[in-house]
Amino acid sequence: MSVRALSVVPGKPETAGVGDHPDPTPDEGAMLVQGLLVGVCGTDLEIVQQGYGWAPAGSDRLVIGHESLGQVIDAPAGSGFTTGDLVAGIVRRPDPEPCEPCGLGEWDFCRNGKYTERGIKQRNGYAASQWRVEPEFAVKLDPKLGDVGVLMEPTSVVAKAWEQSEKIAARAPFSRHIALVTGAGPIGLLAALIGVQKGYEVHVLDKTDAGPKAGLVRDIGATFHTGDVTDLPVRPDIVIECTGYGPLVFELTAVVANDAVICLAGISGATREESVSLDVINKQMVLENTVLFGSVNAARRHYEQAAQTLAAAELDWLTRLVTRKVPLSNYEDALNRHDDDVKVAIDLRR
Ligand code: BGC
Repeated sequence: MSVRALSVVPGKPETAGVGDHPDPTPDEGAMLVQGLLVGVCGTDLEIVQQGYGWAPAGSDRLVIGHESLGQVIDAPAGSGFTTGDLVAGIVRRPDPEPCEPCGLGEWDFCRNGKYTERGIKQRNGYAASQWRVEPEFAVKLDPKLGDVGVLMEPTSVVAKAWEQSEKIAARAPFSRHIALVTGAGPIGLLAALIGVQKGYEVHVLDKTDAGPKAGLVRDIGATFHTGDVTDLPVRPDIVIECTGYGPLVFELTAVVANDAVICLAGISGATREESVSLDVINKQMVLENTVLFGSVNAARRHYEQAAQTLAAAELDWLTRLVTRKVPLSNYEDALNRHDDDVKVAIDLRR
């Protein structure tokens, strides 16, 4: 039986399609995995619709999919995995030189940009009915999670955002209580979940209260807000920004508490221009010790933290986050946004 996979010629959006691919070879990893689901995110839409992404050397097509969930078919003895384990594959691989962080397993801090990413940059992804992975780039999930294990990769990204925010926050000697998450998409909701699990009073701001998001926020004990960020009734100590909406980023510098840390975890493909007083922003940030920083990708430990976050969360709540599972044969529908979508996944079994 051949492998079915969703691939695209990067740079040529009209080329996306599901087709038969040769069996993955052991050089892609010693562990053979049955693909269960892949989550779809903004990066996938950019690859499929806007020509983003890079094919592996020697090929013109890239198999997409970086939010993986699979079940081990065959694992080498001593790898720590056995047949039937629920796993997610790590996205990034260290650059070949390697640079200092990559050499230390912190490829999420790669210095020279020569890292590769499964499903995004020069490595085939996980949107395939079978894939291979190196055991050291796979992370085991609590089997009770089942299909919601597909939330692992986006959770790893916000686990890193939180870890880095708290590391940076530690520069000022006081304990922080109020966290703001901007954007109630999958990343925002998972960031809110982590904040609640860490014991923060979490506020989530989104542009609309339509759909399931407001209820999802309330059901983890966080407070949902819509409207202007400047009208928020709180001054947050930590912000995890998940919208990627540029104008909001600079408004945040004006609404946060003194000594705040603002983590930018979202990106968008837009190129908005707006006039703001950079001197006012500069002065405010200096006078209030504000930190504004970016965070991308995740190291192995962030996946391990994510596995714990998901295992500790209410299964029903996580299940409500995965609003649609679309068969691989019908992948185009997974790429079309529906009003009530939170996380959409492609079902690789169908
Ligand atoms: C992925 C990250 C990746 C980034 C840049 C995001 O969508 O979640 O793992 O590093 O894109 O390619």
